[in-house]
Amino acid sequence: MRSNFKRCTVCGRYTLSSACPSCGLAAVCPVPMRYSPDDRYGVYRRRAIREEYGDNGRYHQV
Ligand SMILES: [Zn+2]
Repeated sequence: MRSNFKRCTVCGRYTLSSACPSCGLAAVCPVPMRYSPDDRYGVYRRRAIREEYGDNGRYHQV
């Protein structure tokens, strides 16, 4: 289950809402997610698949 916790960058308080309950400023996700957690190693997985199967590797992607 994905956490919806956010963190205020000013006071550091954690909240479930999009705004800090203490100072009212916008709270942000504490860990910036550039990649989906499910696809965290996707680039390595795809690279390994490509090395294993060559150009046909794309047909083996899950
Ligand atoms: Zn705050």
